[in-house]
Amino acid sequence: MPPAAPAPDRLAQTITRHGLRQTPVRRAVLAALTGKGYALTGAEIEQETGPGTDRITLYRTLKSFEQSGLIHRVIDDSDVLRYAACSIECSAGAHFDNHVHFKCGTCAHTYCLSQVAIPAVTLPGGFQAERRDYLLSGTCQLCQPAG
Ligand SMILES: [Zn+2]
Ligand SMILES: [Zn+2]
Repeated sequence: MPPAAPAPDRLAQTITRHGLRQTPVRRAVLAALTGKGYALTGAEIEQETGPGTDRITLYRTLKSFEQSGLIHRVIDDSDVLRYAACSIECSAGAHFDNHVHFKCGTCAHTYCLSQVAIPAVTLPGGFQAERRDYLLSGTCQLCQPAG
């Protein structure tokens, strides 16, 4: 191993572990989504990945990432769909949609709180839930007034 070897390439490992081939766009999209603590819209991801990225490729990448369990959709109170990187437990076709999302009214970021579980909900007979979106809103850590 060369002495100045870079840290193991976690992006590459994550992409490969999910059964996808590495491409520059996939790396850029994953880097954008893991680099922030909050969910990004398609337009924001487009900005992060730079002007050279083809939109169609970008959205196709988001779709395949979603299908492979690398990212999940984040629904908040706006009409805009956001994406966040999944925690390590997600796998192809089996998203653990078991954590809450938090929308900050001050910075308008929607955070993926993967460490906070959605409380159990008992549904009336005849209702069968297929997905869960649990959104809290308020003020995030960074926007708390000082003092
Ligand atoms: Zn905030
Ligand atoms: Zn999330």
